[in-house]
Amino acid sequence: MRDFSHDHRWLSINTATVRNQRGQPWPLPRILDACAARGIRAVAPWRDQVAAAGLAATAAQLKALGLALSGYCRGGMFTYTDDASRAAVRDDNRRALDEACTLEAPCLVLVVGGLPGALAGRPAHRDIERARTQVAEGIAWLLEEARARRMPLAIEPLHPMYAADRACINTLAQALDLCDALDPGGSGALGVAVDAYHVWWDPQLRRQIERAGRGPVSRVLALHVCDWLVPTTDLLEDRGMMGDGVIDLPRLRGWVEAAGFAGYSEVEIFSRANWWQREGGEVLDTCIERHRRCV
Ligand code: ZN
Repeated sequence: MRDFSHDHRWLSINTATVRNQRGQPWPLPRILDACAARGIRAVAPWRDQVAAAGLAATAAQLKALGLALSGYCRGGMFTYTDDASRAAVRDDNRRALDEACTLEAPCLVLVVGGLPGALAGRPAHRDIERARTQVAEGIAWLLEEARARRMPLAIEPLHPMYAADRACINTLAQALDLCDALDPGGSGALGVAVDAYHVWWDPQLRRQIERAGRGPVSRVLALHVCDWLVPTTDLLEDRGMMGDGVIDLPRLRGWVEAAGFAGYSEVEIFSRANWWQREGGEVLDTCIERHRRCV
């Protein structure tokens, strides 16, 4: 297992972590500058931030600063109600792939979607099995597009509390079953993003991470870290800084590294009441310190 205690060369910042400081949006160019100024070598930007800054301008800034990506957020949201919405989903995912290629991301992260309409507060039905079937079909389709572009896809299982509105893939076992069905043998084109916040509670976690490492190429394409606070007061925007909660992050990192993952550990914290209320530079400095001590 790599020693993170002396430097932060394997730290990546998911740009949502400092996107909205004290209600003042930090535009992506500012975030990239602030990361590079601290010797942070990688980031994972969100599509809306890239769209606001401009795709070509973002690619140029990344190159000028020598910043790599640890992933691109995000594709997915595959569930639909009719042919028109299915076509819209596919168009959007094709664009996400092209952007990921332009930014030279190591993978496009997929948040697969829940019941159609649920994120807007109007679920179209109660059939989560149908939603899961649509997700499998959507990933099968996107995988062909992704192979043509040589852009790996990383399925991110989300905590079951998001099954209705964000992702009906909720465990690593589910995600790996899809990988095995759609990419038998493990070509490297399809894998998983292991987000500590979403999977830390899973009694099968260790076994499934070992399974992810069994093929010729590791299925683990990304590692996202933050912490689970006790109590957690908001389902979406109360993630903790590493070391402030109950997740044994070094143990988890040891498992994914034993499964062949050797990439960045990406800090992804949505924290409306705490970290988003602080000065962005303080947040980044804290990420660096905790990454050394707690990851
Ligand atoms: Zn994540």
